[in-house]
Amino acid sequence: MSTVKTVPYWLDTAPAGPDRSAVEIGGRTDVAVVGAGLTGLSAALHLARKGAQVTVLEQETVGWGASGRNGGMCTTGLAIGFLTAVERYGIPTAKAAYLAYNEAIDTVEKLVDEESIDCDFSRTGKLNLACKPAHYERLARTHEGLADLIGYKTQLIPKRDIRSEIGSDHYHGAMVDPQGAGLHVGKFVRGLAEAAANLGVRIHEKAPVTKARRIGGTTHDLTTPVGTLRADNVLVATSGYTGSPFRWLRNRIVPVGSFIIVTEPLRQEVVDELMPTRRMASDSKNILYYFRITPDNRLLFGGRARFAMSNPQSDAKSGQILRKGMLSVFPQLDGVRIDYLWGGLVDISLDQMVHSGERDGLHYSVGYSGHGVQMATHMGKQMAEVIAGRPEANIWRGMKFPRVPGHFGPPWFLPFAGAYYRALDFIK
Ligand SMILES: Cc1cc2nc3c(=O)[nH]c(=O)nc-3n(C[C@H](O)[C@H](O)[C@H](O)COP(=O)(O)OP(=O)(O)OC[C@H]3O[C@@H](n4cnc5c(N)ncnc54)[C@H](O)[C@@H]3O)c2cc1C
Repeated sequence: MSTVKTVPYWLDTAPAGPDRSAVEIGGRTDVAVVGAGLTGLSAALHLARKGAQVTVLEQETVGWGASGRNGGMCTTGLAIGFLTAVERYGIPTAKAAYLAYNEAIDTVEKLVDEESIDCDFSRTGKLNLACKPAHYERLARTHEGLADLIGYKTQLIPKRDIRSEIGSDHYHGAMVDPQGAGLHVGKFVRGLAEAAANLGVRIHEKAPVTKARRIGGTTHDLTTPVGTLRADNVLVATSGYTGSPFRWLRNRIVPVGSFIIVTEPLRQEVVDELMPTRRMASDSKNILYYFRITPDNRLLFGGRARFAMSNPQSDAKSGQILRKGMLSVFPQLDGVRIDYLWGGLVDISLDQMVHSGERDGLHYSVGYSGHGVQMATHMGKQMAEVIAGRPEANIWRGMKFPRVPGHFGPPWFLPFAGAYYRALDFIK
């Protein structure tokens, strides 16, 4: 993999945005948004539509975080799965939470349409693949539960028919959710930034917030190396990249490295064999693989290859592990070149649920637990409503946000967590 590019494919193949590097920051703003990912940019855009003066502060560049590094899958369903949600919260809450993800995909589709963002959005459907016969039985129970309890239709694919969905005999059946969608997330996140900027949102890149000092109520002074901004409201949208200025949030989020490789463009007949329906696919393990075809006919293949923070060494090892994983699913790709490899941080909360609300006068929305493309975009919109005085727009309000035990700084416990989940995959 010597000629592999280590930048995200999405950012490399999207039209470049303008240089928005901050020169000087000062004065006052109605709302400051910390983080220029999907949560932050969607919130900024929706607040600007309401007439608010909005300033976005981003420590790197637009889409530099998870929003420019993911699989580009707008998937249905919760990170914990529908049946677990029913066991944990009861049917009404599980139903509302499950359907919120569909609403979130609608939010993405509507934004793409309203702002004319050219980003290959397509309702491909989501393919959930069973790694073991027992996992297929659970998919069948999920399929039945969704139909019986909330009247939601999915499709079961038994192993004997699996080739209609995927060119592999690796899996023991699947479930298709037709509402799932895919997009070019680099074009989407940069398109959102452009749409927000066109509405007057000031986006400052290379502007890390190093301190947030509460003045009173929701008003804060945000310190950056190029000046201090006073904001009447602040939305912290820093996801798996949350650092010490927002300690309370940081101690509630485990930033887990997830990694992706992307092949060279494949011939049409190869793509038709691998993924004839072009769905967004993921499998049923705790340490799962997820994959899809990109708009230019490459295979994107991702997974939590190593439980480690993303860095060049960790990413390289993950690339090798992922390549092996890809060939175990699609042996016919042996010899195919890998063009891209990168890693990013997924913001996992202890209960793997989204957490949005207000703490110490700071608004926040984090904890998408690997399902943020649609939900981060949606929660940006909803948090704009909350800041405008409609707290009921936040479906996750009132959920207890548990602290990760022993988490005071860099997550020393990731290798142990990795060993635990690998053991679970082996046993169950
Ligand atoms: C490899 C990978 C694959 C994924 N695949 C999928 C997928 O296919 N489908 C899906 O639904 N979800 C997926 N996810 C999850 C999804 O990408 C995220 O949940 C979502 O992008 C979160 O968006 P966000 O705007 O909240 O955070 P981010 O996009 O992470 O943005 C946070 C931003 O905050 C900035 N920041 C942090 N601290 C500061 C500070 N002090 N000052 C200024 N700026 C700061 C960071 O630089 C960053 O740009 C994946 C994630 C990863 C890493």
